Amino acid sequence: MLNSGSSSVKFALVDPASGQRRVDGEAERVGTPEASLLVRRYLEEAVTEPLPDGSYRAVIARILDLLADAGHDVIGAGHRVVHGGERFTASVLVDDEVIEAIRSFAPLAPLHNPENLAGIEAVRAARPGLPQAAVFDTAFHQTMPPRAFRYAVPQDWYTTHLVRRFGFHGTSHRYVAGRAAVLLQRPLEELRLVTAHLGNGCSAAAIRDGASVDTTMGLTPLEGLVMGTRSGDVDPGVFGYLAAQTGMSAAELTDALNTRSGLLGLSGASNDMRTIEAAAAAGDDRAQLAIEVFAHRLAKAIAGLVTSLDRLDALVFTAGIGENSVLVRHLVLGRLGFLGLTEDAEVNATHGAATGGRITPPGPVQALVVPTDEELMIARDTAGLIAAG
Ligand code: ADP
Repeated sequence: MLNSGSSSVKFALVDPASGQRRVDGEAERVGTPEASLLVRRYLEEAVTEPLPDGSYRAVIARILDLLADAGHDVIGAGHRVVHGGERFTASVLVDDEVIEAIRSFAPLAPLHNPENLAGIEAVRAARPGLPQAAVFDTAFHQTMPPRAFRYAVPQDWYTTHLVRRFGFHGTSHRYVAGRAAVLLQRPLEELRLVTAHLGNGCSAAAIRDGASVDTTMGLTPLEGLVMGTRSGDVDPGVFGYLAAQTGMSAAELTDALNTRSGLLGLSGASNDMRTIEAAAAAGDDRAQLAIEVFAHRLAKAIAGLVTSLDRLDALVFTAGIGENSVLVRHLVLGRLGFLGLTEDAEVNATHGAATGGRITPPGPVQALVVPTDEELMIARDTAGLIAAG
């Protein structure tokens, strides 16, 4: 599994059957002379080595050599790719045409798709025969109906520029939905779920009988919930108003909404929920407000998503905040009693560890904590595509 970002490459050697990580790690400052590679081998101390040539190509060649030297049998490489446009509705094996299609979606994800492609091309250069798969953040949400994915904007914005809602975090939403079905011991095809992926980026999805039918992120990962540094929804009128008031450009305003907003903007202290919870507990009013806005907006979004499901069977919390913040789950559940959700405070306090993730009393509508595992999903998709030829 490879996740090639703007200055980092994360990798993990995952056994698709057991999910076990044999080796994983991260190259940092890729593309600079200071590039380094952190490697964690199973049951061993992590080691960091400098990378004299910090290019994507050299970094990935080193990762592949390191796996080969350790005698690991790598059957393929699965890449996280952020944007698959309207074309990719599932993971695919990579060929020239797929590479061109990913390139064509770069304007929709200028900070991600080019790096994701650099990773794919670097593996090709180092191991020309190795099968590769692309696993898209957007693919799972391609089942959204037009009423959920279209914006009420001039038609040609959609037909010419593809201005529509795509949604992201699809690999995580798909994985936790599958896990929720296992934990609930019910077929996924019969379940109505809302999954809330709450990490640095946050999104929630409505999953009806196994398919995504609505989600909070849109054309870009800026729409929807309050996030670490991203604003989530704001009135688009803010752009014109602040441009007139301050002379800021569209690019500057977008950057502020992406990097100086969200929990960081509200709290003034941090984008990290742990720090904010600690500050609020110590009496910091801004940190307290940041948590309240976060929970209010999240609860409101969850309730809105249920309108696409007709009924709710389970609400799933995942990612850093979803898996660990007892407080956020408490605040959200406290606002969703009308959907039939009631917190069981005792099991919420231990993240549902003894109840198969369940943090509400047993009953027809449950909330679950389900750890996500996008790397395993990427490894499974890759192995499945290779096996299918
Ligand atoms: P990423 O999206 O980068 O993968 P994560 O899924 O690791 O991020 O989520 C990071 C977020 O999870 C941060 O806001 C962090 O503060 C939060 N988080 C992690 N552990 C806790 C905890 N014990 N309590 C509250 N928030 C937590």
